[in-house]
Amino acid sequence: MHTCSHAVFGCMDFRIQGTIEKLLAHLNVKEGTFDRVICAGGAANTTQLETHLGLSKRLHDSRVAVLSVHEDCGAGAVKEDLYKAGDTARSLGFEPKLFYIKLDGTWEEVQPRGVSV
Ligand SMILES: [Zn+2]
Repeated sequence: MHTCSHAVFGCMDFRIQGTIEKLLAHLNVKEGTFDRVICAGGAANTTQLETHLGLSKRLHDSRVAVLSVHEDCGAGAVKEDLYKAGDTARSLGFEPKLFYIKLDGTWEEVQPRGVSV
């Protein structure tokens, strides 16, 4: 099996791509070590999230899901959508990391709800 450590989810919106790159660098998630999904709404796109996290786990045994939505998303994603995304990721066997991306080039880390270890 070809394995990778992370699966990364973000919106297609061009305004946030540079910030996502900065976030990945901050997290020390290096190019070529993660599965990447870019779609409208990012992690709020539940259908895409379930499909691609499932595939990433099955094909690459990835363990950490870096999930993001962003400010002023044209697909209607809001910060609160991250909680459901985190639940979905955990149900599929991932450790979720949740980020709300702002248009000023910064981000806010959001704690998943109901964390039990
Ligand atoms: Zn968007």
